[in-house]
Amino acid sequence: MARGGHIAVVGAGLAGPLMALLLARRGFAVTLIERRTDPRRDVVQAGRSINLALSARGIRPLERAGVFAAVEPLLMPMRARAVHPRSGPGSLQPYGQRPQEINYSVGRAALNRVLVAAAERAGVVLRFEHRCLGLVPESGAIQCVDERSGRAFEFDCQTVIAADGAGSAVRASLAAAGACTVRAVPLDHDYKEMTLPGLDGRHALDPEALHIWPRGEFMLIALPNPDGTFTLTLFLPRTGEPSFAALIGAPALHAFFSAQFPDLAPYHAALIEEFRRNPQGQLGTVYVRDWHLEGRALLLGDAAHAIVPFHGQGMNAAFEDCAVLDTLLERGGGWAAVYGEFERLRRPSAAAIARMALENYAEMRASVRDADFQRRKRLEFELERRFPGRFVPRYSMVMFHPEISYSEAWRRGAIQAAIIEQLDRARSADGGIDYTLADRLVRERLPVPIGRDPDARTG
Ligand SMILES: Cc1cc2nc3c(=O)[nH]c(=O)nc-3n(C[C@H](O)[C@H](O)[C@H](O)COP(=O)(O)OP(=O)(O)OC[C@H]3O[C@@H](n4cnc5c(N)ncnc54)[C@H](O)[C@@H]3O)c2cc1C
Repeated sequence: MARGGHIAVVGAGLAGPLMALLLARRGFAVTLIERRTDPRRDVVQAGRSINLALSARGIRPLERAGVFAAVEPLLMPMRARAVHPRSGPGSLQPYGQRPQEINYSVGRAALNRVLVAAAERAGVVLRFEHRCLGLVPESGAIQCVDERSGRAFEFDCQTVIAADGAGSAVRASLAAAGACTVRAVPLDHDYKEMTLPGLDGRHALDPEALHIWPRGEFMLIALPNPDGTFTLTLFLPRTGEPSFAALIGAPALHAFFSAQFPDLAPYHAALIEEFRRNPQGQLGTVYVRDWHLEGRALLLGDAAHAIVPFHGQGMNAAFEDCAVLDTLLERGGGWAAVYGEFERLRRPSAAAIARMALENYAEMRASVRDADFQRRKRLEFELERRFPGRFVPRYSMVMFHPEISYSEAWRRGAIQAAIIEQLDRARSADGGIDYTLADRLVRERLPVPIGRDPDARTG
């Protein structure tokens, strides 16, 4: 593959700088183009997913790029879900059973700064305040405008990697030229972020948990920050009752917070003030077909597969994209062949995580409260202990087993759900499980331990 001519990576969010860094380490000349100002100088915008859950799937690519050591000090471990009912005692539901099975809360801005700095150190040319207007499909050049001077120009490059997010301009120009099809499915729930203050730098809630206030049709969650605060995110229908549309005016807001989140009473006034100030964000899934234009352009991360955030996997999937593309580049071949193989490997996985993320919303906002759900979770953990490497809860496969693809997690998850269903139905009068039946079902239906099937690996 030719090393001559710059590769343009559009978007210095999360995937862009990581991909630029990996390319630079492979000896390519890379220019990273970003419409925003340099995050190392910028003040963080309030209300835009301030922190994110990072899991093993996202950590591996960071290690591959040699940047994890710089990211690690930013991480807050989250070992369990802390469930806050409207009344009565809450519960702590561990995410996994092994000490390493934890997720981490990480600040988006701090992570972004580390990645951008690492890309720059690796020799990537950074072009902030440069907006990409689109791609010229015939030549592969990208059209840009320097936001400071207003000067428009064309950037000739050997190939373009578009990591410009869910609203990708590069994708729009490919779609306009008939080179890809895009189906955007908005969620009818929006979100709003607020801050739970710390007490003299200490956290007001257990800092080693992701907190959930599941309320059936909607939920509030909280992820810890290193400064003693939590970022709260309210996910709520756009219209109807209750909804963002119905939460207008102080009395309605006070009544809502008092009824739904009584344990946060000391913070209601501050939260309501922030609620009124902060933007209301939209969510959705973007399904794209044809992620590449021969060898001239490739869509990556949210530009190729934006998903709803309920499995905490959008960034993790975007990072995994970077590692898979890097592996394919290591194997060699022309850009067109590499991009074709990338889409072949990743599109089924993107579809699987898109689906699991939507399903997880129902789990987080409703099922976590049910005794049935908790009983089945306990059974899943028990089967994992009895059949290690063979029966692994789907949540754990997605979050803690990057050695298998999302699509394999989906496939095995469906088999396991049927096994759990059968065992649960066959419980004895005193609730006992027939482990002889469990043994037979697991051996018959999950004959291959996870990670042993080469076709089921991430790529
Ligand atoms: C509320 C919320 C919570 C989330 N929580 C999680 C979580 O817990 N875990 C997780 O893994 N994921 C989470 N996600 C998803 C995650 O934010 C995305 O999947 C991730 O940011 C995708 O990375 P990306 O680099 O593809 O896109 P982005 O991070 O969106 O980066 C795109 C970049 O491109 C730039 N850009 C856009 N257009 C242009 C243009 N025309 N020219 C130049 N630059 C441009 C943007 O300014 C931006 O910097 C969450 C998302 C939301 C909305």
